[in-house]
Amino acid sequence: MQRFVLDTSALLSGREFPDGALYTTPSVLEEMRPGGRMRRKLDFYLEAKIKVQAPSPESMAKVKELAGKTGDAARISETDAEVLALALDLGEGATVLTDDYSIQNLAKSLGVPYVSMQMKGIKSVFHWDYVCSGCHRKYEAPRETCPECGSKIKTKRRKEEGKGAETKGDENK
Ligand SMILES: [Zn+2]
Repeated sequence: MQRFVLDTSALLSGREFPDGALYTTPSVLEEMRPGGRMRRKLDFYLEAKIKVQAPSPESMAKVKELAGKTGDAARISETDAEVLALALDLGEGATVLTDDYSIQNLAKSLGVPYVSMQMKGIKSVFHWDYVCSGCHRKYEAPRETCPECGSKIKTKRRKEEGKGAETKGDENK
């Protein structure tokens, strides 16, 4: 099962969390005001689905050392560092979920994979179909006109886990 470490921005994004083992750190929870609206909303997740784990001192040291080298140190909070350090502790493939550019930047330097909640899975979730507006043949590659009937080709976004397609760009029918 894929492991994800959620930072504050991910927890507060209001978006659906991915399937997998979800983790966060004690200091991320502290950043959310106890009894606050978002915190109450998250209580179900926190109890049922998200494991709270503190990172090892070794990984914290590693993150801070690198942050010093990359110049990210000033932009990275203790909480941010913990999120990255926990991902290191969880080992290869553990992915940080964050919308914070400083964390993403440092994750890149550390070789820790990260996903933005805003952009989550866009690349893997969406495919483009090129559909003829005349004969409705589908093509894998983009083209101007249909080689079969000469009609215009429309670009459609296909969702893997089916909710139909959305049309991008030219809406002519
Ligand atoms: Zn056609």
